[in-house]
Amino acid sequence: MKNSPYLYYNWYKMSYQNKKIAEAAEKLKAELSKTDEPQSILRSPLLKSLYAEIPTLDPKERGAFGKEINTLKAELEKLIAARDDEAEALPLIDVTAPFDVNVTSDAQPGLLPTKDGSVHPLMQELDTMLEIFYRMGFEAVESRQIDDEHHMFDTLNFPEGHPARDDFDTFTLHEKDSKGRPLIAPAHTSTMQHRVLKARKADLEDGKPLAVVVPGRVYRNEDLDARHEHTFYQLEGIYISKGVTVGNLMATLKEFMTAYYQKEVEIKTQPFYFPFTEPSFEFAISCPFCDKAGCNVCGEGWIELLGCGLIHPNVLKAAGIDPEIYTGFAWGIGFMRMAMIKYDINDIRYFQSGNLAFLRQFK
Ligand SMILES: [Zn+2]
Repeated sequence: MKNSPYLYYNWYKMSYQNKKIAEAAEKLKAELSKTDEPQSILRSPLLKSLYAEIPTLDPKERGAFGKEINTLKAELEKLIAARDDEAEALPLIDVTAPFDVNVTSDAQPGLLPTKDGSVHPLMQELDTMLEIFYRMGFEAVESRQIDDEHHMFDTLNFPEGHPARDDFDTFTLHEKDSKGRPLIAPAHTSTMQHRVLKARKADLEDGKPLAVVVPGRVYRNEDLDARHEHTFYQLEGIYISKGVTVGNLMATLKEFMTAYYQKEVEIKTQPFYFPFTEPSFEFAISCPFCDKAGCNVCGEGWIELLGCGLIHPNVLKAAGIDPEIYTGFAWGIGFMRMAMIKYDINDIRYFQSGNLAFLRQFK
């Protein structure tokens, strides 16, 4: 019977004989309906002043007055409890949301204290790599997470229907580009080449070389194993000026590899085919751990790391750059693989596993 709605109703209709207490009750209940801290009503100065009045009253009135204050306090306690129940019945909060969309910017939570976390090992390695390229005079431009076939293929000398397009099997969106083709999750950071070329064309004509690296997240529809991830990272490089040769390309990459592995490395290339470079190469370095003797990192002494070449004249032309005047080189490094080699990490999937034991080794 204690929780009967009927009793609850009676209690709720509580009225007070003493006018002062009746007025205080109305005020306190109004305050309670507005406050975010219901418990604070029990510490209200108004309630305290009523208690403080008891000793000043005529002894005949004290008993009834005190009893009504206690009743009022009990009523408030019950209303507070009801408020708590009400709060429990509110819709669940999405704890994965960083903050509620309606929270004003000044009330949004700040960043977690940095002592509780650390920079992801891949981003630490990327910073190291970018520092090396900055010292060589390159600037960095981040790639996009969603792009279109125009930047993925058309402007990179992959004509419509070109079989090499099939080597870049990636994920598509429902949204379409202006030609009705689905937008895509880019399968290489080269999607930025055309944009960078167009944006820096004027600098080039002012006599400044175009030197840009493009770090970015890329996607492929892969069968996953220790060496293949559907989401991975590339570091693209683009350099254009007058009279640029394959020799400049090799010297740049050798310098970078030596700085990154902190050891003089030898380089080896073999011809390859990419539609957007001509000539194109596969690029390998001598193993920084065994000096070509062969080990568990390299196998037989050499490590293939990337594809590169001189930028195809059609790619320059697509951006309005005259290939008769300017030449340049480009490369794409899968930099997860570079970090795996540096730290002898045997499974690419560790990087995005959220495995704390793995991540803490790099703190
Ligand atoms: Zn080796």
